Order: sequence, then structure tokens, then C-alpha cells
Amino acid sequence: DQVTARKVWTEEQVHFTLPKRDDYSHKGTHGKGLIVGGSREMPGSIAMTALSSLRSGAGLVSVGTVNEVIPSIVSHCAEATFIPLDSEKGVITGSQCLDYSVYNAIAIGMGMGRSEDTAELTRQLIKEANCPVIVDADGLYHISDDLELLKQREFPSILTPHPGEMSRLTGIPVKEIISKPFRIAEEFSKTYQVHLILKGPFTIVTDPKGKQWVNTSGNAGLAKGGSGDVLSGILLSMVMQPQLLVEALANGCYIHGKAADNLIVNKHSKQDLLATDVIQGLASVFRTFS
Ligand code: AMP
Ligand code: MG
Repeated sequence: DQVTARKVWTEEQVHFTLPKRDDYSHKGTHGKGLIVGGSREMPGSIAMTALSSLRSGAGLVSVGTVNEVIPSIVSHCAEATFIPLDSEKGVITGSQCLDYSVYNAIAIGMGMGRSEDTAELTRQLIKEANCPVIVDADGLYHISDDLELLKQREFPSILTPHPGEMSRLTGIPVKEIISKPFRIAEEFSKTYQVHLILKGPFTIVTDPKGKQWVNTSGNAGLAKGGSGDVLSGILLSMVMQPQLLVEALANGCYIHGKAADNLIVNKHSKQDLLATDVIQGLASVFRTFS
């Protein structure tokens, strides 16, 4: 068996690798991202993903979602653009208006729901998108029984499960995933040729060769609904900008946790901290690296 190096991703590495904003840059320099998801019952998830990606340096962010939830998302992030998708009863039913070819990266799954139509949309997007795709939440649910799909992709697939989602992806009980996360993550990433972000009190980033990095920033204030949606937005923004993919992913995890850590030092507590606060807290992290 190959010996793999597992390293903690440090603040110093973030300093060295996080792309600096060039004085002559324009919005195109910083990438165009697409977020697909949302539903009438869960409009907040995708709003948080959109806002956190905008707060993480993305040049342009488009949101493909159910028409009726667009006004509520706009009220949180006026800077996003929208692609209204066909829907029924507040859930996406079609994706005819989506042209995947114009994006630098795509994130799918947040607040999307678990219908047969959203499953089909997820599989189709993974097959057709010619850019890195981040699959989270309901997107992970939909591909759990069809993982072979990932092997056929020519562009990177990034999966961001928490242990419960990892359990569904692998069929391995949560308890076992928590007791040997490195081994399970390595095996999964190699088998399906994906970049895996196995989330938890510490987060393991594994590349398709099985190489691993560990993020230790973050605290139990993040153990709440919405934290993962915020992470997906940060990751989308990191991935769509010119940077080595594994560095982009490790930096995204670090920044997410560090924002939460900074906030509980003097503004919030682990009890009251909300995912939307973490988005506000991104400023304190990015300021230290610019
Ligand atoms: P999700 O379960 O998809 O909402 O994602 C939760 C996010 O919060 C992930 O980025 C986790 O790493 C992070 N998180 C959850 N609980 C903790 C914890 N106890 N300590 C540090 N980070 C956490
Ligand atoms: Mg989640």
C-alpha cells in the first residue's frame, strides 16, 4: 500500500497560495461561477452559498433556481444574476436554460430537494459540465447510487460530504467513517477519481491520488444548519479562480473555519453563531491575507 502524506494545512500555506488581487484585474479575471439548487422550502441554503461565494472574491455568480425564490435571494445578494428554471410546486423540474459551457466552476445541490427531476438534473450536469463541479447536499444524495458517473468526467469533481452523507455514498456506517476517516476518504477518492472534502470537527481534503491535507480551523459554533452551504460558496469562489485545485480547496476550508474562529473571540459565541454570521466574518479573514 502506498504511503500517503497527510499534512495540516497551515495559515502560512494560505498566505503563500491564496491568489492576490491584481491591481489591473477585472471581473473576468476572477471567474464566473454557477450555483444550481434551491427550492421553495429551502431558499436560504442557496442564498447563503451565493452570498458566501460573492464574499470570497468571485468575479461573477449566477444562480440557477426556481423562479419564485429569486426575489428572496436577491434581497440577500443583489450582485448575483439569475437563471429561472422550470419548476413545479416549488421544486426544479428542468434545466433547458442552463448552458454549462460558460462557467469556470459550478456548485450543485444546496437546498435543491430530492425529486426524480432534481436527480436527473444532477446526473446530467455532472455528465455535461466541462469545468470543475462541486457536489453538495441533495446533489450528493442523488449521485449516491450512481457513482460510476464520476469516473467518466474529464474535469474535476469535488464532493463535500459530512459523515452522514459519506455514509450514504459508501454504504459504510457513520461510526466507522468517524473512526477511520483518512483510510475511507483515500479509498473513495482513488476509486471514483474525485476530490473529496470530508467535513467534520476537522476536515480532510483528499485528491484523486489519495494525497491528503487536514484543516483544523473552525469550532462547534459551525455545528448548525447552513454552515455547509457557506463552505460550498467559498469553495466555488476559490475553485473558479486561477489556483491549484487542492490549494483552492484547502484554502476554502481554512477560511471558512477561521471566519468562525475569529467571530467567537470577541463578537459571538459558539451558541449564537449563525452561518450568515460566518459570511460576515469572511472580511476579517481575507483582510489578514491581502
Ligand atoms: P454541513 O453539515 O454540510 O452543514 O457542514 C458543516 C460545516 O461545519 C462543515 O464545514 C464542518 O466542517 C463544520 N463543522 C461542523 N461541526 C463542527 C465542529 N464541531 N467543529 C468544527 N467545524 C465544524
Ligand atoms: Mg450540508
